[in-house]
Amino acid sequence: MAAAIAARQLGMRVMVADRAQPPIDKACGEGLMPDSLEVLNCLGVSLQGCETGSFHGIRFVGPECSAAATFPQGRGLGIRRVLLHDVFVQHAEHCGVETMWGARVSAIRDQGVLVNGRKISCRWLVGADGQNSQVRDWAGLSAGSGSTQRIGLRQHFQIRPWSDYVEIYWGSHSQAYVTPVGRNEVCVALISRQKFKSFDDALGEFPELAAHLQGARSTTRPRGAMSISRKLKQVCCGNVALIGEASGSVDAITGEGLAMAFRQALALGPALAAGDLSSYAAAHSQINSLPEFMSRSMLLMDRSRWLRSRSLRAFSRQPQIFGRMLAVHVGELRPRDFGASGLLNLGWQLLVA
Ligand SMILES: Cc1cc2nc3c(=O)[nH]c(=O)nc-3n(C[C@H](O)[C@H](O)[C@H](O)COP(=O)(O)OP(=O)(O)OC[C@H]3O[C@@H](n4cnc5c(N)ncnc54)[C@H](O)[C@@H]3O)c2cc1C
Repeated sequence: MAAAIAARQLGMRVMVADRAQPPIDKACGEGLMPDSLEVLNCLGVSLQGCETGSFHGIRFVGPECSAAATFPQGRGLGIRRVLLHDVFVQHAEHCGVETMWGARVSAIRDQGVLVNGRKISCRWLVGADGQNSQVRDWAGLSAGSGSTQRIGLRQHFQIRPWSDYVEIYWGSHSQAYVTPVGRNEVCVALISRQKFKSFDDALGEFPELAAHLQGARSTTRPRGAMSISRKLKQVCCGNVALIGEASGSVDAITGEGLAMAFRQALALGPALAAGDLSSYAAAHSQINSLPEFMSRSMLLMDRSRWLRSRSLRAFSRQPQIFGRMLAVHVGELRPRDFGASGLLNLGWQLLVA
């Protein structure tokens, strides 16, 4: 939807075909960092008047200690996926994007695609078909590196958010994160290397979180999705461009998936309008590089108990280090400004923590 809006803003005729019916739901932590809200502005998407939750930073909670950091500027928003999709659909249709729902794309045919068995011609094809993208396979763009898979599960609970942060609870095999998505609702997402027996069983690894949720009514059923970290060699060829998770993805724990897709959309629009996808390929690689680095770092913390407990203690003792890392994460501080002294300080804290 973001790519469609970005292309339509530049005067192109755009059609979106999705096999699902709106509003489309998906297992997601439903958090939008402050920087992704700026990108939404550029797309003309407004969340004003929607039921949302708001947070001003991230809090890591470990078995022995916790650490919190606030965003240098602005606040993040939590919003139910169905609501976000609804806002996108309304805005896209208002901009003049043509939408087809229950419309399965089943093949690429010369200068077009088959949608529900009928050929639709197009100058460009944007594969925004998620983790298991078929457009990616058909276009021969599936080659890539390092695919790490984890399992995600999310459920909503009716409870007044108890924290002004998105809270990330670190367990030995998994993480749970809590995003406020309304005045009286939170979204809890669990991500693990191991299969969950059930949502309640998985919560057992996080007694502090389980205590918060004690007695809270669940407002949705648990919904699962794979969280895959994948980097592709190429994201476009010929008249096909990939975007969003179809074009590679980072681990869900980064909370960056949506923001990356929105930024990619802003880069793709002008590339399509100019008739040259090379600028998109370059921008895509730049957009993804920091979230990919963050994803690798978080996955290291997930896998190594030593690193996890040292990092949490270091962040707890020196919250300004955590604050600067969060500033890098949301694009308020350039990685090079974190600097050698920041890295040395972090290394030292890890050794002494
Ligand atoms: C547990 C979990 C927690 C997450 N938490 C966050 C978070 O807090 N913040 C964040 O920013 N990101 C988060 N993410 C990542 C985020 O959900 C994804 O980055 C985002 O949903 C990717 O969007 P997409 O449009 O690329 O793919 P999708 O949302 O999967 O959309 C793909 C669409 O393509 C359609 N489709 C597929 N095949 C076809 C076909 N053949 N024909 C027609 N239509 C087709 C599908 O119906 C679907 O609507 C999380 C992910 C997981 C798994």
